[in-house]
Amino acid sequence: MADDDVPFNKHFLLEPGVVEEVRPGIRRVLCNNPSPFTFTGTVSYIVGQGNVAIIDPGPDNAPHAAALLDAVRGETVTHILVTHTHRDHSPNTGRLKTATGAIVYAEGPHRASRPRHESEKHSPESGADRDFKPDVTVGHGDVIEGDGWRLEAVATPGHTANHLAFAWAEHSVSFVGDHVMGWSTSIVAPPDGAMVDYMSSLNRLAGRAEQLYLSGHGPEIPEGPRYARFLIRHRQAREASILHRLAKGEADIPTMVRAIYIGIDPRLTRAAGYSVLAHLEDLVARGVVATDGDPVIGGTYRLVNS
Ligand SMILES: [Zn+2]
Repeated sequence: MADDDVPFNKHFLLEPGVVEEVRPGIRRVLCNNPSPFTFTGTVSYIVGQGNVAIIDPGPDNAPHAAALLDAVRGETVTHILVTHTHRDHSPNTGRLKTATGAIVYAEGPHRASRPRHESEKHSPESGADRDFKPDVTVGHGDVIEGDGWRLEAVATPGHTANHLAFAWAEHSVSFVGDHVMGWSTSIVAPPDGAMVDYMSSLNRLAGRAEQLYLSGHGPEIPEGPRYARFLIRHRQAREASILHRLAKGEADIPTMVRAIYIGIDPRLTRAAGYSVLAHLEDLVARGVVATDGDPVIGGTYRLVNS
């Protein structure tokens, strides 16, 4: 295996609506919203027993809300935690809050990583849930405690500006949302996402002690920090590929996508373009790559000093 090959795991047999105990005190329920972006669907987690927290209620999906409420029948949902404001993670919050009266915790409403350039509209990939508002805003290092569980918020911007992971140190577990996924790399699409933030968030997680990562999509990741380091090397290799392509002459983003993402699922081509843009934005900020005007999806890029 090359250094930049990520050991993806697409083995995930959880069926929608079925409650599964991942570890003592942690249950998960899959929503039936499979897609090229969500894999088999969004995974919601139930933390604790008796008085519980639900992490990521999922998309606007009544059957999934019913499955979650069914899973906690006879128990009390005291907390709802949201990792980030994408439409496959947060919109069901209202439904669960109405049914349970739980308090909603998240970093804040949806926002972009940087101001939009003049030529940019909302990118369709962002899938932002702009209606979401937490009851309690949570910052890096804040601790959210319930009956028998204690979660520390770990700021992990990059996929979105407001992304949080929730670390349960006592169990060496981190709920990592879409920041780290076992089945695929994460989408980092400017302006909602930012590559510099994404990389430093990976380093932040990799430097922590929690080993088991539980993601918003796909199977658990047993050696989380090691896996995060694979993702870091993967992005470094992608950056090198972009520079390698630009060394042959200036190029636009579709040209770079064709050169770098061989055999990509056509449904993911646009997302790949935004990932390349995320790298280019970083390279332009570092003075390695130049473009005319702001680094945007339609721009042409060249190496500085060539
Ligand atoms: Zn997401």
